[in-house]
Amino acid sequence: MADSATPRVRFAPSPTGYLHVGGARTALFNWLYARKLGGKFLLRIEDTDKARSTDESTRAIFEGLTWLGLGWDEDPVYQGANLERHRRDADRMLANGTAYRCFCTQAELEERRKEAEARKESFKYDRRCYDLPRAEVERRVAAGEPHVLRFLVPEGTTEWNDLVHDRIAFPNKDIEDFVILRSDRTPIYNMAVVSDDIAMRITLVMRGDDHISNTPKQILLYRALGAELPEFGHLPMIHGLDGKKLSKRHGATAVGDYQHQGILPGAMLNFLALLGWSPGNDIEVMTLDEMIGLFSTDGLQKKAAIFDPKKLEWMNGQHLSRTPARELAPRVTPLLVAAGLATEAELAARREWYDALLELLKVRARTTDDIVRQAAPYLRDAIEYDADAVAKQWKDPVETRSILGATRERLATTEWEPAAMEEALRKLAEERGIGGGKIFQPLRVALTGLTVSPGIFDVLVMLGRDRSLGRIEAAEAWLASRA
Ligand code: GLU
Repeated sequence: MADSATPRVRFAPSPTGYLHVGGARTALFNWLYARKLGGKFLLRIEDTDKARSTDESTRAIFEGLTWLGLGWDEDPVYQGANLERHRRDADRMLANGTAYRCFCTQAELEERRKEAEARKESFKYDRRCYDLPRAEVERRVAAGEPHVLRFLVPEGTTEWNDLVHDRIAFPNKDIEDFVILRSDRTPIYNMAVVSDDIAMRITLVMRGDDHISNTPKQILLYRALGAELPEFGHLPMIHGLDGKKLSKRHGATAVGDYQHQGILPGAMLNFLALLGWSPGNDIEVMTLDEMIGLFSTDGLQKKAAIFDPKKLEWMNGQHLSRTPARELAPRVTPLLVAAGLATEAELAARREWYDALLELLKVRARTTDDIVRQAAPYLRDAIEYDADAVAKQWKDPVETRSILGATRERLATTEWEPAAMEEALRKLAEERGIGGGKIFQPLRVALTGLTVSPGIFDVLVMLGRDRSLGRIEAAEAWLASRA
């Protein structure tokens, strides 16, 4: 093969649902492998199950991969379009004697299965059609009798050196002469996969552990077709926190759901990367480029990976903190607009201020939705006082009002700059014989309505003099009405 040196890997989803986090993880590892080694990452849509495959699902796969930034090389391959080749490959095996025609009907097979069960034996096709005289086979074919093609499993052991599990071996006696082409001449799954992987010149098949039992059959098919074997690597399953296979019971499992929950694609990728791969040295937070640099199949793990949504949120917080405001803005702006907090034009008109606001809020946020919640006090005219904040920080209305009044007066005559404001307020605290917190905490509630916010002087600067002083005054009035 001319360019057999170029690694070629593929992601081969069945378009029967959404892009599942497990699928996205498989796609990511294949993608990282290709990028790391200067290879090709191919996409194959395994749409041969016509009853379950939908265009909508194919679109969801494209969208999910695109959102994650996992672009694929070459045109996507649609498995269903390769039916003729699948048949040709199966016929080649018939011709070279590695497959044979089987005329046993479903009903007959079912009967034999039941008989075996009654004898407490496991059923395996007994190869009886392999022994049919050639003339009889020809006669039955000529008569148009329906039949399948079965693979003639050779003796011995089928083994491979798995990139994740090291040596895996299956005794061939445990593999029955499996069907490769149904009586309607459609290929069964393993036939289609191998035919496609050969045609796509795949050099490494990296997929979930749930496919391990397919691999010996696929290896036998490669050999029967005289094709060079790819490498195989089987990635660990993903479990929920309860140790059970990840499913809808554990919450969102579709990549698209996370997209709509304020998760950044970079954080999602980083989180997925750690599901079955360890970059070593306790490294956790990585950009995509860093992941490419660190990726190695040596770091792939055998044991099941645990999907912890809290860790995903934490990871997202880490990525939010590291993302410059200029990059965050295109993601956050539409959310602020949708929440009715600002228009795009308003934000564009205060670009620097808006950037500074994002810089301030992103470090305390775990999702972009968090940023929107925290941004409200800076974008709205009026704020609401959180009941807990009032109960905690404004316990004594009379005293609080007096402190806020004094605070407002000091600030009114201070330069609007953090150091100057801090000095003025610390001096006020000293004069009143109270700690700084007794001034800053009630002030925070007056300015934001909340108990947590960025540093109080940053808040004052972001709000600006007029809005800050106005808010303190409004808080004083509110407290007066409660006193
Ligand atoms: N279509 C299979 C799946 O979605 C993948 C087959 C493969 O990677 O070989 O599980």
